[in-house]
Amino acid sequence: MTWRHGKHSSADYGEHLDVECDVAILGAGAGGCAAASALAQRGFRVALFEEGKHWNPGDFKASNAFAFRHVYAERGNRVAVGNGWMPINGGRGVGGSTLINSAISFRTPDALLEGWRERYDFDPELNFSAYLDEVMATLRVGVDPMQVQGRNNTIFAEGMEKLGWSGGAFMPRSAPGCVGCGVCQLGCPSGGKWSADRSFLAKALLAGEVGVYADCRASGVTSEGSRITAIHGEIMDPQSQEPTGTWSVKAKHVILSGGSFGSPRFLMKNGLSESEHLGHHLRLHPATGVFAKMPEVIEHWRGVSQGYWVDRWEEGFLMETATLTPDANFIAMPLEFGEELNRVMADLPMLALAGVLVHDEDTEARVTEDGVFFEFGDGDRKTLLRGLTAVAEVFFAAGAEYLVLPVAGAGLVRDMDQVRAELHEEVPFHRIMTTSSHPMGTCRIGADPASSVLDVHGRVWGWDNLNVADASTFPEALGVNPQVTVMAMGLHVGHTVADGLSG
Ligand SMILES: Cc1cc2nc3c(=O)[nH]c(=O)nc-3n(C[C@H](O)[C@H](O)[C@H](O)COP(=O)(O)OP(=O)(O)OC[C@H]3O[C@@H](n4cnc5c(N)ncnc54)[C@H](O)[C@@H]3O)c2cc1C
Repeated sequence: MTWRHGKHSSADYGEHLDVECDVAILGAGAGGCAAASALAQRGFRVALFEEGKHWNPGDFKASNAFAFRHVYAERGNRVAVGNGWMPINGGRGVGGSTLINSAISFRTPDALLEGWRERYDFDPELNFSAYLDEVMATLRVGVDPMQVQGRNNTIFAEGMEKLGWSGGAFMPRSAPGCVGCGVCQLGCPSGGKWSADRSFLAKALLAGEVGVYADCRASGVTSEGSRITAIHGEIMDPQSQEPTGTWSVKAKHVILSGGSFGSPRFLMKNGLSESEHLGHHLRLHPATGVFAKMPEVIEHWRGVSQGYWVDRWEEGFLMETATLTPDANFIAMPLEFGEELNRVMADLPMLALAGVLVHDEDTEARVTEDGVFFEFGDGDRKTLLRGLTAVAEVFFAAGAEYLVLPVAGAGLVRDMDQVRAELHEEVPFHRIMTTSSHPMGTCRIGADPASSVLDVHGRVWGWDNLNVADASTFPEALGVNPQVTVMAMGLHVGHTVADGLSG
């Protein structure tokens, strides 16, 4: 088989697949699908290679075990270690992490883009704003109707109202067909979420010449001087995730879109960047959650997954409601096995869940070829504790009887005095349960090769025809959920590459 328009998978390839195209894109997540859309609209023949498989809504099982095994990167076992440990979630498949994201869709904050312009000379032509408009329109971003919000979101809104606090709102999301089944992070079984495969990739397939090759992991390159001439890799069995054959592609230009782990590791493994910044400046947006026993049935797993948020960007955090399927509550509950945990689990239908997401300021983290390491910063730790205190305050205002804080040994707390005592400034990071779903920044852009891996258009320093388009390009953390910015970056890189090819 050679280049062909449409979607392909391992069953079509035989033992070896050879493709020729204008632009090869490696990784079909948020960045890769947006870049493909830009290039297809500009008339270039695109081949997109993705190590995971194609997914249809009906294939998802609303099961944690199934999702970790088949849709999560590294089978859900990716963990950062350092002065604590932190699981890092990511998606694998055509659609990338958008297959399992909550569809939250924030525009890049203006203040942040201005900062990037000043500090990194990013986007002086001010095109990025038009790309953000295109992303918001393509994803059909809007607020879901009240009928599907679910009590977990409305009760948090009521707490905010009772406190008279500003900054709260129902979430802008890219899920125009949301039915409120609460399992976004296990793959959307209704098709209501506009993940990258159902939005930008669908647009690309309609607009131009795009071959989408699932089950193809990129691993090596052939080059001549400062040009990449071919990419090669393995055909993967979608069940065992083991190699079954080989593939290669010859292209005029190559875009890496393997995400904040896949892209730096590809560059490292193939010796494609000499930058000492490669793999560094990993930003994580650490997040954590509070369970609240309310005086009524909540069933937080029913309704929009993450339907309400509170803006505290200037203070370094956001509050966001959250959901877990009932089985996952037992695993995630930060209590010792025993009587207290049993009592809390008996209250499960009445538990609400909301959390805090921290805008990394002083955490140092990096990716190597086979590990992820971090030193959680003191400033971020204090911000996390302040954010958790704010979430607790909203829950008590909404009528919570007790809270379970994500702090080892804290047990149940029944008022704000207890909360403040447990969340005091000295709580060490290793006692706080955190997770990350927003890795960013391991191949940072910049105007100066001495302090960056890529130029401001995502081109790898030292190469004429190799760019990166994904979350790894960010020079700093965003402080808001990143998919919209990643996709706008994909458009930015895609159009830059198209300009170069057009001569
Ligand atoms: C559980 C979860 C919830 C989230 N919720 C939200 C949310 O609600 N809103 C929001 O804005 N953001 C959310 N995010 C984050 C958002 O989805 C990501 O920031 C975004 O998808 C990153 O885009 P990317 O292109 O960098 O990488 P990804 O979308 O992760 O795509 C990378 C793709 O590259 C593939 N790949 C990697 N290496 C190779 C290789 N060598 N060869 C071939 N293919 C390769 C991977 O399999 C993957 O499919 C969430 C993420 C997770 C995990």
